[in-house]
Amino acid sequence: MPMGGLWGRIRQFMAGRRGVDGLSLFLVAVGALLSFVGQLLGQRWVLWICWALWLFAFWRMLSKNTEAREREDRWFLGWFSPAARRAALHAAEAPQRRAEKEARRAYRIFKCPGCGQKLRVPRGRGKIQIHCSRCGRDFVKKS
Ligand SMILES: [Zn+2]
Repeated sequence: MPMGGLWGRIRQFMAGRRGVDGLSLFLVAVGALLSFVGQLLGQRWVLWICWALWLFAFWRMLSKNTEAREREDRWFLGWFSPAARRAALHAAEAPQRRAEKEARRAYRIFKCPGCGQKLRVPRGRGKIQIHCSRCGRDFVKKS
């Protein structure tokens, strides 16, 4: 198999063209995701959007106007990188948020009938007397 010849020809064909960049990869990925979701929901028209995205990505790869494609890619990365960073940050904070949620579940919040102060009480203790730390009033609630 004359692979070198084939690759040489491909290289020759791609010379001066944009090739694969971040935006094209993103378009292909979004198209794949959309086609998956579209098939899942039985919405065949979504596939037209996928093909449009893929064709646009393909056209960008073969485009010889590399300057314009470079501009598009830079615009895309300017938008995408902060979004990706935010998503990564969001994922990193997830365990902390889960811990906070657990803590909230372990307590009940009661409002003092005297002053409206919010008081945190452990759950599942039955009827308990709650002492308001602000106005000193005692009241009974089911925790
Ligand atoms: Zn109070």
